[in-house]
Amino acid sequence: MIPDYGLSCSEFGAVGLTLTAEVYDKLRTYSDFLVEYNENVNLTAITEPKEILRKHFIDSILLTKYAEIPDNSSFIDVGTGAGFPSVPLKIFRPDIKLTLLDSLNKRIDFLRQLCERLEIEAEFIHGRAEDVSKKPEYRENFDFATARAVANMALLSELCIPFVKKGGSFIAMKGPNEDISLGYNAVQLLGGSVVKTVDYDLFDEKRKIVIVKKISQTPPKYPRNSSQIKKKTL
Ligand code: SAM
Repeated sequence: MIPDYGLSCSEFGAVGLTLTAEVYDKLRTYSDFLVEYNENVNLTAITEPKEILRKHFIDSILLTKYAEIPDNSSFIDVGTGAGFPSVPLKIFRPDIKLTLLDSLNKRIDFLRQLCERLEIEAEFIHGRAEDVSKKPEYRENFDFATARAVANMALLSELCIPFVKKGGSFIAMKGPNEDISLGYNAVQLLGGSVVKTVDYDLFDEKRKIVIVKKISQTPPKYPRNSSQIKKKTL
C-alpha cells in the first residue's frame, strides 16, 4: 500500500501509469523541495501539490507511454528549467543516463541540489543549447533529446536535433495550439524526420508530443549562432 502524501496515487492510475512506493516517495521529495525553493527563486508558477503532480510529474512521465525508450538510453533535456520532463522520467526509469541543460544558472543550482537529495546521478550543463551542441563531446552524442515548453518547433529543432545520434530521437512536448508543421522544414534541414505526433489529454487540458527520428547527420553549419536563430527560424 502506497501512503498518500497529498500526491494522490489514483491520479496516476487514471492515466494508465503505475508506480512503486519508492518512485512515489521521490516525487513527494521533489514536490516539497520545488515548492520550498520556489519561494526564493522563480522556478514554476505551479505550486499546489496536486497541480505539480498533474502538470509537471504526470505530464513528464506520460512520455514513456508514447515513446519507446530502450534500457540505458542517454537523454539530454534542453531548457530543462526545474527538471521537466527529464527528472520525473529518471525517477520513473532509473536506468536512463541523464544530462540536464539550461541557460539559467539558478535553475542548474536548484537541479544539483534536487538530484543530490533524490540520489539521482546526472550531468549538469549551464549554457545555451546552440553553443553546447557545437562541442564535440555533446554533438550527436545522445539517444534522445527532450524539450518541453522551450520554443516553437522550428527553433526547438535547431536547439535539439544537433545533440541526437543518428538513429536516435528528439521528443518535443508541446501545447495544443502550435502548428508544428511550420517546423517540418527545419526538422529536415537538421537531419530529422517527424515519425509520430500524438495528441493526448492531460486531465482537462490538451497536449501534444512530437517524435522526430534522426536519419542523417546535422550539417556542421547548424545550429547557427543565437542572434541568427532569433532573427529568423529555419
Ligand atoms: N522544460 C521546463 C518545463 O517544461 O517546465 C522549463 C520550460 S521554461 C518555459 C524554458 C527553459 O528553457 C528556461 O529554463 C530557459 O532558461 C531555458 N532556455 C531557453 N532558451 C534556451 C537555450 N537556448 N539553451 C538552453 N536553455 C534555454
